[in-house]
Amino acid sequence: MVALLTSQGKIAYIRDEKGRILPTVENFYRFCSEGRLMAVKCSQCNSLICPPRSICPICCAAKESEWVEMKGKGKLLTYTVIHFPPSQFQALAPYAVGILQLEEGPRLPGMIKNVKLEDLRIGMDLTVEYETTLPKEWPKWPRYFFKPAS
Ligand SMILES: [Zn+2]
Repeated sequence: MVALLTSQGKIAYIRDEKGRILPTVENFYRFCSEGRLMAVKCSQCNSLICPPRSICPICCAAKESEWVEMKGKGKLLTYTVIHFPPSQFQALAPYAVGILQLEEGPRLPGMIKNVKLEDLRIGMDLTVEYETTLPKEWPKWPRYFFKPAS
């Protein structure tokens, strides 16, 4: 994770001129590398957006927004099993990807691990977990995935 760290060994967040951590996907993945799932709250309509976008998908405002930490818990809204993945995920196939309805509201897409494909159920409780190794291919971001709640 060297590329994400400052010379002091801290996470190198991308900040604005006032020192605030910008609401970007790059910073979202930097939070993931610290084991934190963060959404941004739209200052116009108060929607939570996760992963963040520069324009709110609900009200289309492009105003300032603030980071809010998510608990990383939710229910499986829908899923699909991938048998023919992109080349970098070939070794993992077949695997499941799904959309997690977070307790706080946002819907987060991601890979589902640590569960047999035949045991997947719509509505099951899942938690967000974080990869400890970086992918070899672009983008070299620490990734999150979903696993059954214990
Ligand atoms: Zn909004």
